[in-house]
Amino acid sequence: MSKASEYITCEEVITFLLGYLSGELSPEKEHEFERHLSVCPSCVAYIKTYKQTIELGRQALGAGAASTPPDLAPELVQAILGRRS
Ligand SMILES: [Zn+2]
Repeated sequence: MSKASEYITCEEVITFLLGYLSGELSPEKEHEFERHLSVCPSCVAYIKTYKQTIELGRQALGAGAASTPPDLAPELVQAILGRRS
């Protein structure tokens, strides 16, 4: 039985993550990235947490600048509560 099409590794997913989030990956890389996510729940969970961390960071910076869009807050509260439950 020959090896089916190979998946990239979790390490590669993490390496590609910044590029993926900023839309800088090549279409091939992006495809490989998403293909890995379709079979790897732990990377999906990692990316979800990563995105939430970015959002929380933005919120913290926004609060300091006193120009935070008010409608952003409930979502973040839900994200925080969701992680704890
Ligand atoms: Zn993975």
